[in-house]
Amino acid sequence: MLFILMTAQYLPAVVMADDKPTVEGPVVGIDLGTTYSCVGIFKNGRVEIIPNELGNRITPSFIGFTDEERLVGEAAKNQAAVNPTRSIYVVKRLIGRQFNDKEVQRDRKHVSYDIVDKGGKPYVKAQINGGETKTLSPEEVSAMILKKMKEIAENYLGQEVNNAVITVPAYFNDAQRAATKDAGIISGLNVLRILNEPTAAAIAYGLDQKGDERSILVFDLGGGTFDVSILTIDGDVFEVEATSGDTHLGGEDFDQRILQHFTKLIKKKYNKDITQDKRALQKLKGEVEKAKRDLSSVIQTKIEIENLVEGVDFSETLTRARFEELCNDLFKKTLKPVEQALKDSGRKKSEIDEIVLVGGSTRIPKIQQLIKDFFNGKEPNRGINPDEAVAYGAAVQGGILGGEATDETKGLLLIDVAPLTLGLETVGGVMTKIVPRGTVIPTKKSQTFTTYQDNQETVTIKIFEGERAMTKDNHLLGNFDLSGIPRAARGVPQIEVTFDMDENGILNVSAEDQGTGKTESITITNDQGRLSKEEIEEMIADAEKFSEEDKLVKEKVDARNSLDSYLHSMRNTIEDKEKLADKLDDDDKETISEALQEHQEWLDTNADADKEDFEEHLKDLQSVCDPIISKVYQENYDDAGDDEDDEDIDDL
Ligand code: AMP
Repeated sequence: MLFILMTAQYLPAVVMADDKPTVEGPVVGIDLGTTYSCVGIFKNGRVEIIPNELGNRITPSFIGFTDEERLVGEAAKNQAAVNPTRSIYVVKRLIGRQFNDKEVQRDRKHVSYDIVDKGGKPYVKAQINGGETKTLSPEEVSAMILKKMKEIAENYLGQEVNNAVITVPAYFNDAQRAATKDAGIISGLNVLRILNEPTAAAIAYGLDQKGDERSILVFDLGGGTFDVSILTIDGDVFEVEATSGDTHLGGEDFDQRILQHFTKLIKKKYNKDITQDKRALQKLKGEVEKAKRDLSSVIQTKIEIENLVEGVDFSETLTRARFEELCNDLFKKTLKPVEQALKDSGRKKSEIDEIVLVGGSTRIPKIQQLIKDFFNGKEPNRGINPDEAVAYGAAVQGGILGGEATDETKGLLLIDVAPLTLGLETVGGVMTKIVPRGTVIPTKKSQTFTTYQDNQETVTIKIFEGERAMTKDNHLLGNFDLSGIPRAARGVPQIEVTFDMDENGILNVSAEDQGTGKTESITITNDQGRLSKEEIEEMIADAEKFSEEDKLVKEKVDARNSLDSYLHSMRNTIEDKEKLADKLDDDDKETISEALQEHQEWLDTNADADKEDFEEHLKDLQSVCDPIISKVYQENYDDAGDDEDDEDIDDL
């Protein structure tokens, strides 16, 4: 075989089927939210959402440091406005990201505490209890919240809780999932599963129990983030088909609109500017949020704050209609990501079988109305509190893993997909795809590669994610070298590269030299900057935009590689005595040699030529060499062309 071609040996996707109960003790489900967290347990055949010490079923994801103590939850949130630099919140926006990530830079401007760069990662810098200034990783801060949720469950159950299922947004990448898992480990929890939030919400509604394949749209509008996901459930198999949303849209934006409305009114009515008065703002903000919640069940409410600023006893009415007017554009903004998710999943709105509302802000009647109208009057699923649905589903999953499951839930199997294509770089900067976008995970895929140069002892495996044809346009996840490959002609060594993505979406890449059995590997964890949801969306959009352009570049590189391979193989053929060298007569050898030299010189000086030029040169060269080689074959071998056993491999 003279040419180096490509083939993939795909291993079937490995699906974790029935999870055998092997854990000891209770397994809780935790929704670790951006603004609030919630914990539940599956017990005696049903889910219980566990209230905190104040009787609240959701707990603010807040940490506060005072001189004496560390506060978590309600206590931390209540003092946040008066202790801004030592109150830590929305760390979920930071977890698993790089410091220079656009999202992190944006959030740095908005939060009241310090976010600093430590080894390329964003750390929280704050004076902790005791007075010492410390830098804390987002994992550590999240661990404090998880520990609180663990304690809430322990107090309620009267026993130690060591196992948990923790949820994350469907768009979370490997690094964010791995970091969330680490937070669980830091908190002392054995994290049995990282589960997608929309999947958890769908489980909560028992949508897995309904038989036929169903398409589900999960509309999750919380305090600070908005996520839309489209899932399909077929039997017991869940698949996330598309995700969209807005990382900075939620209940807090609505609070802000009402706040602005009242600060303006106070200025006009009492000639007092409270925008710089932190205490007054905090008081008003707290009341405004309560009023907003009330307006989900009544059509008008009164906000009263004695002595808001000196001399002003604040007392104003807010109607639902006014609230809707103040937030109208924000409410409408939620429909765009819904359209986007439908488009990405290739579904029409009429094909959505179920709508699931998640997040406290979906209690707002106007939002519910907008969704219902958008889906031509289709009613969303009801019955479970939207701010508890995710923890509810996580608790069901925890019950299954802990062996508490009922007969109906026992076989439940969760399937997620890789959000972007994963691959590695091959000759010419080509992105060779190994795990295509949308592949069901967990998955394990292998492909065999070879060296590009003679006597090459080391290959560098560069791992990328993205949809573009050339790696320079994709996102580098990490790289490693496999060295100690025995010296051999190019194309001889066989290096099997395996991409293994586990059920939590964490990626391990290994490379094995088949000759020596030498293996190297890398796990793509939170040390490697993965992409933000926006970047993922941007890359997918770019890929569509550039697909034609990319195709042309790739074709050109492929044409150049084909010419280069042919030159190389032919040179080998005429020089290698074990091949045809001895059987060629001098004239033929000379003819081939001259042709090779001519085309090699051209290639060396025209590396950036057009695809057609490379093809033309290859054709010319083949027209000289192939007839000679065929002739020699016919003269010398009866079984010419019997090369079935040859392996087709790609160059690294
Ligand atoms: P989550 O993070 O899902 O718990 O959502 C929290 C957000 O939901 C906060 O902005 C709350 O103000 C908001 N929220 C909670 N309950 C209601 C309600 N009854 N009406 C409107 N917004 C609510």
